[in-house]
Amino acid sequence: MTLQKTKSRSTPHRPSPGNRDFRNRTKRSAQTTDSQNTRGAAHAGEATAQPGIILKAGREKSLLRRHPWIFSGAVERVDGAPISGDTLPVRSAQGEFLAWAAYNAGSQITARVWSWREEENIDAEFFRNKISSALAARSELNLSRNSNGMRLIHAESDGLPGLIVDQYGDVLVMQIGSAGTERWRDTIADILQELCKPACIYERSDSDSRALEGLELRNGVLRGTLPDTVEVIENSLRFKVDVVSGQKTGFYLDQRDNRALTGTLARDKDVLNCFCYTGGFSLYALRGGAKSVLSIDASGDALRIAAENLTSNGLDTPRAEWLEADVFQALRKLRDQGLSFDLIILDPPKFAPTAAFAEKAARGYKDINLLGFKLLRPGGLLFTYSCSGGISEDLFQKIIAGAALDAGVDAQIIHHLHASADHPVLLSFPEGAYLKGLVLRVA
Ligand code: SAH
Repeated sequence: MTLQKTKSRSTPHRPSPGNRDFRNRTKRSAQTTDSQNTRGAAHAGEATAQPGIILKAGREKSLLRRHPWIFSGAVERVDGAPISGDTLPVRSAQGEFLAWAAYNAGSQITARVWSWREEENIDAEFFRNKISSALAARSELNLSRNSNGMRLIHAESDGLPGLIVDQYGDVLVMQIGSAGTERWRDTIADILQELCKPACIYERSDSDSRALEGLELRNGVLRGTLPDTVEVIENSLRFKVDVVSGQKTGFYLDQRDNRALTGTLARDKDVLNCFCYTGGFSLYALRGGAKSVLSIDASGDALRIAAENLTSNGLDTPRAEWLEADVFQALRKLRDQGLSFDLIILDPPKFAPTAAFAEKAARGYKDINLLGFKLLRPGGLLFTYSCSGGISEDLFQKIIAGAALDAGVDAQIIHHLHASADHPVLLSFPEGAYLKGLVLRVA
């Protein structure tokens, strides 16, 4: 566990080299006495050029459309001797300024854009402005009437690549997934502390994607003290959140609206909730008057929290049944037992983190959805989701259509679903739309 002392908010994470950007540094770049240029000394030839990223001819197109990622394949050369996390100017082959971006030497995404404006300074003030606007956008959503949890910062879509901040009551959980954000970690924590005044900022920088960025895993308190129990209230339901070892930042805030929709459609139904985690959809269905809810997850820890959540919401009822099992196998067993349901939820984990995994993921989605369709009674509803960035909405719908065909059912789409509004999607960054869902009614 990493514990960091609070620093003054203007102090960057890595003192002087920490927040270096390479504005107008042509003349200084060869000075090897500067501590930040010790690497430059070893690469004196490279270090004589002004640090920056120069793209191959024609590869500026995605940046001109304001897509914030610069892939390694688009890079002609990196001038100077920058290190991961440095802010660099990105230029076209013709030398035209395109953006300020955070460099990451080891990643396939060589840089992520901070700003499109040449006159912008990437400094503490820049982060204060970005964080303030993200917070202002969240407060306009009026979520706080019945809920005290929301995603405060949604990475690229809030102009802060690699930064996720989720709020659970007075605890903030921060997840850093890029070298650029890593460099500004303390500045960001100080700004969040000042603007949100949480009891604790906890860092869950332990996602698999950190390895792709060459970053170490980190899991620990960043500011304040973590309360013994963290709870989030969502549409007046209480959920315990395991911020230390739960999945993602501890809870799946993105499904808030979709869980609420399930609650409105569950009355008198026999419900099957697959990949239930801490019971989100199950509790909404029970509150919504479901006749029975069978919930399945492979994680015993998640199911133990689900049971606590049931009790803390006064929903401890024989209508609820929990099963620790692999969903792929459990669905087959239920089918073999001849069981059927009126409403089935399939909210699996990410099968395809990137498009490279799409084919294997497609087989997984088809398998569970085919079984789901077979387990539905006539007129039944299937809530089916994919949170895979590598599976587009269009492809997902095609997979579900294939599953229905093979299951021999006719189905209509009655809802197209996405993440809740506190997970906005930047128009120029379609990758932000990772969560897609369909509600289907079988004939
Ligand atoms: N619907 C949940 C979130 C689901 S997250 C909510 O609203 O909160 C995905 C869940 O799938 C995790 O809890 C994980 O433990 C579970 N899981 C992953 N693979 C599984 C498998 N093969 N069988 C059963 N559960 C699995």
